[in-house]
Amino acid sequence: MSKNIGYPLDLKMNHYADVSYDEKERLFEEVKADERYHHMLYGCYECGICVASCPSAKFYDFSPRVIAQALAREDVDLIYTLMEDSIWDCSQCFSCDRCPRGNSPGQLITIMREVAVRNGLASAKKALEGYGRIIYKIMSTGSQVSPDMLQPNAFPDWGVHVNEIAENLELWRKALPPETLHTTETGWTVSDKTIIELYLIWHMTGVMDLIEGIDEGLFMILVDVMEERLEDAGYDITFD
Ligand code: SF4
Ligand code: SF4
Repeated sequence: MSKNIGYPLDLKMNHYADVSYDEKERLFEEVKADERYHHMLYGCYECGICVASCPSAKFYDFSPRVIAQALAREDVDLIYTLMEDSIWDCSQCFSCDRCPRGNSPGQLITIMREVAVRNGLASAKKALEGYGRIIYKIMSTGSQVSPDMLQPNAFPDWGVHVNEIAENLELWRKALPPETLHTTETGWTVSDKTIIELYLIWHMTGVMDLIEGIDEGLFMILVDVMEERLEDAGYDITFD
């Protein structure tokens, strides 16, 4: 039985299906195998400085100290619980880097998130489900948001101000000094060359494999968009 280090383990475990101890251990080994891991964790004084500097700890049932301690103690059960829940509460600000022991709980969380995504954990799917539209927008246009999203029905709390902006969007955009921002359907002008480079980076770094594990429907849509544009650019790449 793991020593209680200040985290409601049983309560949190109820949110997700349990898996075997061997599977939890395998996931932890994958976290530990990351090259960055041993530069981010040197033990823990339990001083709580990371908690005091953590904005997420002020608003959620979340503690970077618990993350560091669970990993330092190799508490496989708790590490799995954290990966299925708490790690998604971190805002990745890295204020916890002021740890006197030299730990970086925030960067340890980055590694744990990557392992959660690679292994298609339920928490990763849930945390990322709202990002499908954004990913599609990036892949189809090269930019994350576009000015024409500023519509009165999407921002009713802006009152008449948003009406004014939406009606005169092209004019507002033309008032911006860089010509690359004179766009309304994309955040800025993105050249075909840049988009193709983006696709190649996603292909070569395994990003598409990650997306396939998390959201197969989105993966299929992206593949359609990407394969066609890559073929037009002279690349023979398939995402099987
Ligand atoms: S600041 Fe560092 S040593 Fe102190 S509790 Fe946090 S992780 Fe542990
Ligand atoms: S990186 Fe995460 S854990 Fe560290 S201070 Fe920021 S929100 Fe807290």
